[in-house]
Amino acid sequence: MKKTKLLALSFQKVEEFVALLGWKPYRAKQILSWIYERHAACFEEMTDLSKADRLLLDARAELRHLEVITRLRSVDGTEKFLFGLEDGRQIESVLIPDEERLTLCISSQAGCTLDCTFCLTAQEGLKRNLKSDEIINQVLTIQGLLPVGKRVTNIVLMGMGEPLANLPQVTEAIIKMISPIGLGLSPRRVTISTAGLVPQILALWQGPVPVNLSISLNATTNALRDQIMPKVNRLYPLEKLMSACRSFPLPARRRITFEYVLFSGINDSLEDAGRLVQLTKGIRCKINLIPYNPYPGSPYRRTPDDQMILFQNFLLKARLITTIRKSRGGDILAACGQLSSLSHDQSCASTN
Ligand code: SF4
Repeated sequence: MKKTKLLALSFQKVEEFVALLGWKPYRAKQILSWIYERHAACFEEMTDLSKADRLLLDARAELRHLEVITRLRSVDGTEKFLFGLEDGRQIESVLIPDEERLTLCISSQAGCTLDCTFCLTAQEGLKRNLKSDEIINQVLTIQGLLPVGKRVTNIVLMGMGEPLANLPQVTEAIIKMISPIGLGLSPRRVTISTAGLVPQILALWQGPVPVNLSISLNATTNALRDQIMPKVNRLYPLEKLMSACRSFPLPARRRITFEYVLFSGINDSLEDAGRLVQLTKGIRCKINLIPYNPYPGSPYRRTPDDQMILFQNFLLKARLITTIRKSRGGDILAACGQLSSLSHDQSCASTN
C-alpha cells in the first residue's frame, strides 16, 4: 500500500487520515504538534504515542525532512542549504541571522520560469513547480537542524523561482506557516517576493493569506526593464504593474515593498531616482535598495557605496521610506540573485 505523505495533507485531511485509522480526533492535534511545533523528522520521535501506534503510523504514512546535500556557512553567519528532492532536482534555501531575527529565504520552484538577466537561477530555466510539502519542508528541515531554543522568526519566498507562478502550492504552504496549529507565524512575518505578475498579485490580495508583498522593480522605464527583466515586463509593463498597485486598497498599516537592485551605471543615477519617486506616487510603499551581488560571469557590476547613499538620500528627501539591504552571504553565493543548484560547486570554490 502506498504511504500517505503527511506533509502534503491539509490539517483537515490529517484529521480524516487519523479517523481512517480508527483513532480519536485529538490524535491529529498530537501528530501536528510533533510536526510543526517540535519539528519531528520521523514517527519514532513522537514519544507520547504508544510504540504500537508509532509502528502503525510508520506502516501507513510517511514523514521525512528534506535531504541536505550541502550546508555552507558564510563568514557573516548566513547559511546556504542545498536540498535534494525525490525526483533528483535540487533547490536552495538561505538562513540569515540578524540580531533577534532569524530569516529564512525559501524556494518556490526548481529553477524559474522568468529570465531576469541579473539572476543566476534564471540560467537554469524552469524545471518544475515545487509542491506545497516541498515548500514547507524547507522550513521544517532547517528548523529541525537548529539548536534548541532557536527559531526561524521570518520567512521570505525570495529564493529560487517566482512564487506567484506557483500560487496554489505556495498558498497551501503559507497556510501551514501562519496557522496556530502549523508554525504559528504572524502573517506580517511572511513575505512573498514577485517579479510583478499582475493578475496573481490581485489574486493574492483577494486570497486567504494576508502576507507581505515585495515587488522586484529594478528599473524606472520600460526600455530598461525590458533588458533587466524581459519576460515579466513584456507581459506586465510598468504602467500595468504600478496601476494595479495604485488601485488596490491595501489593508490598514500595510505597505508594498519595492525592491530595487542597484546596477552600476545602469539604473543608479539620480534621474533614475527621480523617476522612481514619480512611479511610486500615490502608493503606500517603501523602497528597499539592494546592493548587487555579482556571480561569476554576471553582466552587471555593483553600484559603489557612495552612489548608493546619494540614491537613498534623494528618495528620503522625497519622503519615500528607503532602506539599503545589508548584503549577506556573498562569499557563498547565497545573496539575492545568486541562488542556483548549479552554484554550489562555485560556492565551494569561492570559499576555499
Ligand atoms: S529574479 Fe526571481 S523571478 Fe527573476 S529569474 Fe530570478 S528567481 Fe526568477
